[in-house]
Amino acid sequence: MNLLVLGPQGAGKGTQAKRIASEYGIPHVSTGDMFRAAQAEGTEFGKQVGEIMESGRLVPDELTIAMIEERLSRPDARAGFVLDGFPRNLTQAEALDAMLVGIGRGLDAILFFDVPDEVGTQRALERAQLEGRADDTPEVIARRLQIYHSETEPVAEHYRATGKLIPLHAARTIDEVWSEITDSLQVVA
Ligand code: ADP
Repeated sequence: MNLLVLGPQGAGKGTQAKRIASEYGIPHVSTGDMFRAAQAEGTEFGKQVGEIMESGRLVPDELTIAMIEERLSRPDARAGFVLDGFPRNLTQAEALDAMLVGIGRGLDAILFFDVPDEVGTQRALERAQLEGRADDTPEVIARRLQIYHSETEPVAEHYRATGKLIPLHAARTIDEVWSEITDSLQVVA
């Protein structure tokens, strides 16, 4: 199953994507996690990416697209994947579509996490206290949300047109959202 999770900061994408990955036995491919891992390794790439993340801006498309192309070509992604954090703008969405056509695969569903900005911001601030993510400060969250509205929302519209977009009530509890997800994936799978 080839899935994509889409939604604003604090929508709960990562939490649900991890659960989908373990229930369905497919890798959770999160660009944010991959960039943070590179940063923790302290490579030159990791340092550059770390600075960009801490400012709330997007890592350049070329780097991000190449990283995802390499990741999706690994053997563990053959049975499927749940993509989280990518695509984040229309250039990346078009690159993903082309990549999938190239390997003869398509997306089965796009899970769209619908949540008001205030709820997402509040959750991201709470996460800051638990995980200490350097980009979960009020200023950087606001910057990321602004970029979400201008660059990532068009991606949701792009996929809505395919008829495969599944809207979720993401302001509900983790278990409620999970049950919406399993119900909708039963229809897809
Ligand atoms: P969130 O969804 O809460 O913003 P992520 O962990 O998905 O958190 O992303 C953290 C940061 O990593 C982003 O603010 C951005 O700098 C970088 N990043 C993640 N995914 C992408 C992407 N697809 N393209 C460019 N930059 C990205």
